[in-house]
Amino acid sequence: MKIYKATVKNINIAAKLLLKGGIVSFPTETVYGLGALACNKEAIERVYKVKGRPKNNPLIVHVYNLEQILSITENIPNEAYKLIRKYWPGPLTLILKYKNSSNISSIARANLKTVAVRIPNHPVALKLLKVVNQPLIAPSANISEHLSPTKASHVLKDLGNNLNDKKDMILDGGSTSIGIESTVIDFTGNKPTVLRPGGLNITPINKYVKVSYIESNANNTTPISPGLFKKHYAPNASLRLNAKFPLEGEAWLGFGKDPKNIDNFTKMNLSLTADLDEAAMNLFAMLRLLDKKNIKKIAIKEIPNKKIGIAINDRLIRGSSK
Ligand code: AMP
Ligand code: MG
Repeated sequence: MKIYKATVKNINIAAKLLLKGGIVSFPTETVYGLGALACNKEAIERVYKVKGRPKNNPLIVHVYNLEQILSITENIPNEAYKLIRKYWPGPLTLILKYKNSSNISSIARANLKTVAVRIPNHPVALKLLKVVNQPLIAPSANISEHLSPTKASHVLKDLGNNLNDKKDMILDGGSTSIGIESTVIDFTGNKPTVLRPGGLNITPINKYVKVSYIESNANNTTPISPGLFKKHYAPNASLRLNAKFPLEGEAWLGFGKDPKNIDNFTKMNLSLTADLDEAAMNLFAMLRLLDKKNIKKIAIKEIPNKKIGIAINDRLIRGSSK
């Protein structure tokens, strides 16, 4: 398996492969997705298999405009429209009522009466969606439960052996700018509910729509959304969160100024200036680098639980679950 630069020519080739039932990994602003036609049962079955993803964890359908959303959903509440107008394209996934006459494969929805949809804010993703001109499912392009990919090389390492050179393709559009998955809000229950904190900060959303916000549901053993399993986003190393200093045998993953006297430890820093956006962008790539060094245990500095830090902490808590 080879990586192809996301040129217009290669995006056109990727679109043809998708239309023939192939799988294409492409960059979004959150993480790299593993795309297939949302109507193609066989291709989607292969996506589940390639990732080792349980079939009861439904997939996000990616589209490039509102017209496509209207063709697959119905009864969009006014409050959801407010967020659509404000935040799409962007790192926000909405759970909406599925339109039965539409052709999104039922396995993409794990047989639910609802569907998760998003317009990604990335030129490569949008161009690919436009050329294909139909919805694509695109879960993160990594082995299920492990770290999400923020570079094309991560996709190649995780899934290269499971993809088919002739049918599939990996498009390289550089590192993803947000680096953490989308915020998921469910509009099909009694009130709008955040199912997963993510790349879009919840606090400003409340200006438009009051959402009930589960600060972190990462400790739940019974997931409230089919895909919110306790263990997820896990590196091979075990994680010790809210650490002040690395202990013997641990690597250090800092945030803000590092503690003194840790020169003898393997160390990385999510953001020396304590910038949460920078930390989110670096999170998965740095955990992958530490895994590569065969580190067994990583001590991680406390990350402030605000803005995108809420999503970072959600991923770290899940990543530290066994
Ligand atoms: P991922 O593809 O790994 O980014 O995960 C997508 C997330 O959206 C998972 O947590 C899914 O459980 C959730 N999701 C997708 N479709 C639905 C749905 N119809 N209802 C509730 N949650 C959903
Ligand atoms: Mg994922």
